Amino acid sequence: MTLHPNSAEARDVAYHLHGYTNARAHQQTGPVVIERGEGAYVYDSEGNRYFEGMAGLWSTAVGFSERRLAQAAARQMEKLPYYHSFGGRSHGPAIDLAEKLIELAPVPMSKVFFTNSGSEANDTVLKLLWYRSNAMGQPHRKKVISRLRGYHGVTIASASMTGLPINHASFDLPIANVLHTGCPHHYREGLEGESEEQFATRLADDLEAMIQAEGPETVMAFIAEPVMGAGGVVVPPATYWDKIQQVLNRHDILLIADEVICGFGRTGQMFGSQTYGMKPDILVMSKQLTSTYFPLSAFMINARVFEPIADESNRIGVLGHGFTGAGHPVGAAIALENLAIIQERDLVANSAEVGGYLQAELRTLADHPLVGEVRGVALIAGIELVLDKAAKTAAETPGKLGGYAAARLFEHGVISRAAVDTITLCPPLIVTRSDIDGLLVALRKSLDETLVEFG
Ligand code: PMP
Repeated sequence: MTLHPNSAEARDVAYHLHGYTNARAHQQTGPVVIERGEGAYVYDSEGNRYFEGMAGLWSTAVGFSERRLAQAAARQMEKLPYYHSFGGRSHGPAIDLAEKLIELAPVPMSKVFFTNSGSEANDTVLKLLWYRSNAMGQPHRKKVISRLRGYHGVTIASASMTGLPINHASFDLPIANVLHTGCPHHYREGLEGESEEQFATRLADDLEAMIQAEGPETVMAFIAEPVMGAGGVVVPPATYWDKIQQVLNRHDILLIADEVICGFGRTGQMFGSQTYGMKPDILVMSKQLTSTYFPLSAFMINARVFEPIADESNRIGVLGHGFTGAGHPVGAAIALENLAIIQERDLVANSAEVGGYLQAELRTLADHPLVGEVRGVALIAGIELVLDKAAKTAAETPGKLGGYAAARLFEHGVISRAAVDTITLCPPLIVTRSDIDGLLVALRKSLDETLVEFG
């Protein structure tokens, strides 16, 4: 492909190194330049319209043209465009947002700490828990357990907690004290004839065994997404969270719910923790918090977590951690407006209702020769593609089948992502049934074309 010299595409290739992109292939293919958004749709620089079936990166609740968020940002920019929270300084938007999040929390929480990305939030959580262990006179208690296929970000600690090979390979990760236990993916990891219930029991037993082998007194926390997103939309078996929490409680291990994707309505309730009966000590939020109109993340901690940290900061003199832009007034103002819209328009209920429709419609694809499994809850879904349904095998090169189907879908005006061979969908919470109908037409066409190609 020849890119027109001086075009945006050519300049992108010349100057821009992209994350999650094959840098060499990009020099040949160039970017897709997205120019503007309208509701659940975006337009590229050639005027093509796409249904944003991923809400960006599992990100926007209110779609791509919410003027109230632009106005809230502009108002705050005019009033106080920046301030920080070091040395006890504060500002209205951060105070209001902290209060609002504690009010929304699915379990009693004590404090909110602000950060700028999901990765930074998880990284900070791990650091503050090390600090807490030291404060509690338990310097040996530093291990965190996450799960294979889990996604917690890409900074050094959060990439270590992420359980995907691509985030470790050639990066010299994971770091010490980060362990990975099994993933609750019954379709892939369940044994022949094993029920979901038996599978959940086995995963809880495996976790118990890992804790015993490591020494329960060395294990500090367990981090998990209520529903795994980037790992291929993995919905846990019904009894999974109950069984896992019994193990954690037995050993006084803290639960960190990474709600970066699930938070604010994605699973049909305000938090995924509510959908799955999780009682986290720490709850991590980003993405739909501001609809990602601004990079802002945060986590809440309960009193059990806060108190030793407060003591330690007092002993040392200051909590030696914090980010220049954290709790940014513009981001916080956008988040407050975004949460107001989610509540006023009851987008959580819309997620449950239209999401229920999406799930039912997607399940009609189960008979398609390429569909191994359809998974999901409310407005997050995964369609795992296989070439041989009985053997559950895809193409020889992992990701080839999923990548092809996602490319077909794109040609038909739908943006999705391929998590290896699982097509993932996570549309904005404002979607309607008619958007879903359009999505399904494109999806059927794309699967049929993929079948012709691989059939
Ligand atoms: N946690 C989860 C569950 C995520 O899905 C993501 C991003 N996809 C992150 C953390 C990392 O967020 P960020 O990309 O903002 O660092």
